[in-house]
Amino acid sequence: MDTDFMLHPDTDISWFDQAACKGLTHVFFGPAAERPERRVEREAIASSYCLACPAMMKCREAARLNREHGFWGCENDEERAYAGFAPRSPSRRSVIKARDEARKRDLANSAS
Ligand code: SF4
Repeated sequence: MDTDFMLHPDTDISWFDQAACKGLTHVFFGPAAERPERRVEREAIASSYCLACPAMMKCREAARLNREHGFWGCENDEERAYAGFAPRSPSRRSVIKARDEARKRDLANSAS
């Protein structure tokens, strides 16, 4: 896992050495303009690694905290966005839609 980037200061990195996805970047991050059908297939394969990974929950938490792109902790961009942790600059419409739905939900919850 590449750690040469700026992480949120509260990020727990103790799990990096346990990552089951070492050397599999191409499975967890799609190419530009990846076709939706191909992305679904790729993410299903990524999911199988995550479900067997001892670091899954810590990985998910770190990806949410750092507003990551890609497949982390058994969550894709849409799932993270819907959980309220959209990637910093979402490009796919489905991610933007999930982010906006989460914002509306959170606003409605805070008003009630
Ligand atoms: S949960 Fe998935 S993405 Fe995270 S370290 Fe494990 S295999 Fe990699």
